[in-house]
Amino acid sequence: MTLPGPETFAANARAALRDSTLTGALRRATDTFAERRAGAIGQVPDWEGLRTRAAAIKAHTLARLDHYLEEFVANAERSGVVVHWAEDAAEACAIVRRLAGERGARRLVKSKSMATEEIHLNAALAQDGAEPVETDLGEWIIQLAGETPSHIIVPAIHKTKEAIGELFVDKLGIAKSSEPAVLAEHARTRLRAHFAAADMGISGVNFGVAATGTILILENEGNARMTTTLPRVHVAVMGIEKVIPRFADLEVFLKLLPRSGTGQHLTTYQSLLTGPDPEGQGPRELHVVLLDNGRSRIAVDATMRQTLACIRCGACLNACPVYQSIGGHAYGSVYPGPIGAILTPQLAGMHSAGTLPFASSLCGACKDVCPVKIDIPSLLLELRQRAVEGTAAQPRTRGSFVERLAWKAWAFCMRGPRRYRVAMALARFCEKLPFVRRLAGPMRAWASTRELPTLAKRSFRSTWRGGAS
Ligand code: SF4
Repeated sequence: MTLPGPETFAANARAALRDSTLTGALRRATDTFAERRAGAIGQVPDWEGLRTRAAAIKAHTLARLDHYLEEFVANAERSGVVVHWAEDAAEACAIVRRLAGERGARRLVKSKSMATEEIHLNAALAQDGAEPVETDLGEWIIQLAGETPSHIIVPAIHKTKEAIGELFVDKLGIAKSSEPAVLAEHARTRLRAHFAAADMGISGVNFGVAATGTILILENEGNARMTTTLPRVHVAVMGIEKVIPRFADLEVFLKLLPRSGTGQHLTTYQSLLTGPDPEGQGPRELHVVLLDNGRSRIAVDATMRQTLACIRCGACLNACPVYQSIGGHAYGSVYPGPIGAILTPQLAGMHSAGTLPFASSLCGACKDVCPVKIDIPSLLLELRQRAVEGTAAQPRTRGSFVERLAWKAWAFCMRGPRRYRVAMALARFCEKLPFVRRLAGPMRAWASTRELPTLAKRSFRSTWRGGAS
């Protein structure tokens, strides 16, 4: 299935809005998560204090990312982990393909990981005839459907249970059912066989602790636990921004992440891995692939660096009115919603994802819910400015002819007080004309759901001077 890219965001969004099944499923799911989140954070005495601590830990770490990465690598290697550095997606995929190839691993299982989605690892491994079986239920569903995740933590959020039932009939040949327990039982039976036979397990990483070289993987189904323990080789793909300084810092993030994402007090399974297990209780070999893929470029940008503080909880998606209406696929990006609108243009470049920072009403709901206090609206505005101005690294994104004309006229009027006064007098005259109120042409869509504000009869300046308007 070919999915649209971010270049066609407007058309993707229009198509999504016409899909009433999709919008209904999204509304139900995001409302449920928002309610659960509100209930869960209401029981934490100092939620704001926790958010502030988390933001401070992330800001501190990201400002010294090189130092903490070196510490993480030294301690991980001391515990027997083999660490690999991947500058980009191609290199990361090549490393995992080589590891699988050298060990003759053909049967691979994978637990949910956005980093591996970002580098399109499954497609790369499929070239060697070794595509991993996704073992998170939601990921497995969309793998069966030939789709991509539409949410950071709930990959199949866009699917109703009826649609999943039909998919299972089609792909697994089971009797029709839309009963979640029945569907889950079928998935469990099939996936256990894959776990038992797997030569290699692949996962992402939620946090990497520099002081001990430990990696932490969070999940709710037990599939990551099996992926990281049953196969003799485990490969974890970790974005370099996932490092945190100390074990004690986990206390903060483990309170924030599940409450923000799913409204849980604690994620069901928390797998902490410090090195391989030669006794055979866990993987005999543990490899960590440290993925850059544009992150170090973001880390040295003092304004945009906070993008890397994201702990992938998904709360900003659930709170975003744009995401709630169109879902994740319309963004045409592995990372959808508000975090995707700031992360994807920086990772993939403005030339392909320059439309995404404009896919926001700037209502600020994402900033209010973000557990690490990322100021997403400010970053969206910064990226919009960069898109319009263009930079040495990024080509200029040009708006439509009418938009550019409007901004030129605005700039002309704002260049001096006399021009401004004349423009305002003209605007007061024009607003009385009936066709202006109806806003013909390209502004009609904007006016269909909004009231054009009426200009004050007297300007502030004339009131201040006590003169007539
Ligand atoms: S930006 Fe904040 S709210 Fe959104 S996924 Fe990341 S941590 Fe969660």
